[in-house]
Amino acid sequence: MKDQLITVCGAGGFIGGHLVKDLLQQGHTRVRAVDIKPLDRWYQKFDEVENMVLDLQDLSACRQATKDSYWIYNLAADMGGMGFIENNRALCMMSVLINTHLLKAAREHDVARFYYASSACVYNHDKQLDPNVTGLKEEDAYPAMPEDGYGWEKLFSERMCRHYTEDFGVVTRVARYHNVYGPNGTFDGGREKAPAAISRKVIQAKLSGQHEIEIWGSGEQTRSFMYIDDCLHGTQAIMRSENVTFPINLGSEEKVSINQLVDVVEDIAGIKLKRNYNLDAPKGVNGRNSENTLIRKELNWDPTIALRDGMEKTYGWIYDQILAGNTKDAVVNLS
Ligand code: NAD
Repeated sequence: MKDQLITVCGAGGFIGGHLVKDLLQQGHTRVRAVDIKPLDRWYQKFDEVENMVLDLQDLSACRQATKDSYWIYNLAADMGGMGFIENNRALCMMSVLINTHLLKAAREHDVARFYYASSACVYNHDKQLDPNVTGLKEEDAYPAMPEDGYGWEKLFSERMCRHYTEDFGVVTRVARYHNVYGPNGTFDGGREKAPAAISRKVIQAKLSGQHEIEIWGSGEQTRSFMYIDDCLHGTQAIMRSENVTFPINLGSEEKVSINQLVDVVEDIAGIKLKRNYNLDAPKGVNGRNSENTLIRKELNWDPTIALRDGMEKTYGWIYDQILAGNTKDAVVNLS
């Protein structure tokens, strides 16, 4: 297995970059890393793997990426935090071409296993109206009313995986990520998600001496956040599993409000800020949390890294990037 070719699509991005690194650390000798971004814009790049710059919306590029691959991880998508997905619904839906063409090419090349990174954005909107939401179970995706644009693409692509399995025998695995965060991801430029955005804002307030922060929405909306190390562990456990043949939650059950997330970051920074709430900004659903009964049953595991511990590492990395003036390198416009 360690000498079989593993292909990571979206390897220039946050989760994909970490996955390539982890595969190398485990001793995999043949890893292919694929992304549309020029190599100098990848968050993590490793010279010892086969790096390819390809637009995976094209079928011919997918054929190149999947050729000779044993396993494929599809982590490529044109995506971002709420600010991006609420304002770029068509762009988000175009990622359907990536997964569809990758599946088609994977089938042609007889790939042994295919992984698709789905999202908690597939869950029915009406189950997420209350900030005191109980965790979302896998069955709560139906009847379908997902996040407009991005969530519909994820739900469609999940089903495409299912039907490629049922009709063509392609072995697929699908995880629904709930807000993954950590170092080496987007923290600036419009695609960043709440943990990175709040870290950046707190750091900027601290460095500038302007002790204020803008918060999108009332701050009472709730979410859970999963640290990247848990994501990597879960992703690979799901991929390896013989039982998890259906979409499964991969997220933390540690639900916090956005105000509580700001409390955590302020505490790490050793600062208290005046909070200005922007009620017109994109804020997503009122409440969302993962429900991990199924993953505990199937894998005897679920994410464990506490928010405070993960945020300390994330904050530290973003702090270093800002001090080093690396902010603009985090911005890549794919459209
Ligand atoms: P990311 O934006 O950091 O990485 C995605 C990568 O895909 C980027 O590097 C981008 O350049 C690449 N990409 C986009 N279009 C491409 C194309 N046409 N061809 C080749 N590469 C292309 O995002 P991430 O946080 O690493 O997310 C990875 C996957 O997990 C995505 O499918 C995302 O939707 C999913 N997901 C992430 C989260 C999260 O909180 N990070 C939550 C739910 C789901």
